Amino acid sequence: MKLKPFAFAVLALLWGAAQAEGLSPIEQKIVAEVKAHAPQGLQLLERSVNINSGTMNHDGVRAVGKLFGEQFAQLGFATRWSEMPPAMQRAGHLIASREGKQGKRLLLIGHLDTVFEKDSPVQLWQRNGDRVRGQGVNDMKGGDVIIIEALRALQRVGALENTSISVVFSGDEENAGEPIAVSRADMVNAAKRSDIALAFEATVRDKNGKDTGTIGRRASSSWELKVTGKQGHSSGIFTEGAGYGAIYEAARIVDAFRQQVIEPDLTFSPGLIVGGTDATTNALGTTGQAAGKTNVISRTATVEGDLRYLSNEQRDRAHAKMQAIVAQNLPGTSASIVFHDAYPPMSPTAGNLAVLKVYSQASADAGLGEIPALPPGQRGAGDVQFVAPLLDSLDGLGATGNGAHSPDEDLEIASIERATIRTAILLYRLTR
Ligand SMILES: [Zn+2]
Repeated sequence: MKLKPFAFAVLALLWGAAQAEGLSPIEQKIVAEVKAHAPQGLQLLERSVNINSGTMNHDGVRAVGKLFGEQFAQLGFATRWSEMPPAMQRAGHLIASREGKQGKRLLLIGHLDTVFEKDSPVQLWQRNGDRVRGQGVNDMKGGDVIIIEALRALQRVGALENTSISVVFSGDEENAGEPIAVSRADMVNAAKRSDIALAFEATVRDKNGKDTGTIGRRASSSWELKVTGKQGHSSGIFTEGAGYGAIYEAARIVDAFRQQVIEPDLTFSPGLIVGGTDATTNALGTTGQAAGKTNVISRTATVEGDLRYLSNEQRDRAHAKMQAIVAQNLPGTSASIVFHDAYPPMSPTAGNLAVLKVYSQASADAGLGEIPALPPGQRGAGDVQFVAPLLDSLDGLGATGNGAHSPDEDLEIASIERATIRTAILLYRLTR
């Protein structure tokens, strides 16, 4: 069938109406503003990606902060740079805020730094059709731009008036400064003044290819196992007097972890092991040295590992089981384990799920489909976890791409507009 231009126009109108079915007139205006300014957002992303901002390139992190800070200032936000103590060796954070009395008080979380330091192979902005490559394009300058463009659309229709919104773009998300209590103080303080936290790490697709939201992220922590045996002639091993040596005991413990401690959403991975008559690891637990002989029973062994969990109850349960295994020593050996918490868990609470529902409805109403929750075991650690224990939180609202943290990092350009529309409607509804 051949359609006349008029019929095309009617079809287009019907299609547009169907897509905007669930949106109020002002929400439809917000969507139109997002679409009208998409090229501007892409330019902003290009400028930010072409500034190297590896966590340790403090000048670069500050320059990206300045670029984004100017955008927030244009939108009527008060902006400031939060310096970190010099001993921490981190650039600091961009903070932007506006005060009002209407609706939920929101905290929006992004980050300025990337894993690509100045000496990494340069990967500047490179557009290939409907995708673009570049350092940090997806993790997470794309997410930062989505925040800015969503707020810009709201401002253009007058919907930012009287809202309370805090923005924290940290300068060290990829390698958080120590002590954490200091490097995350700005974020935690902003969370205490807010009702809901929204974080803009990449939107992840599920196995059916659907965009998801993140209502839980596992905590990351580490452990160090130290085992001692009796050094002696290897021919005496397994006897009461000589015992089994440190290496057998370390192997027993690690294998017992595997056999007895595994449960859903819990993982623990030994990443480094050294053993022998003498064996040491460096303070960070990233390299080791060992010496030993085949005819000598090993005297010492050290294992460095991680532990990822979804709730503090799960962590405590795992710690108790691991401690019990460590305590059942083979003859002639002793062992001890210490745990070090890094990122707290973002547990998948009912409150987080409720925020996802509002987001999913906003997406469906805008014709962009419902948003299911990503299974919480599927993400690494992120900044939102420092505030998730304090307030309802949702992460994974950012752009979509491949190869984060690799030289092939890229982004699907259309994902910026999609996420910006969803975010703008979400922010609008939460602040009424
Ligand atoms: Zn990130």
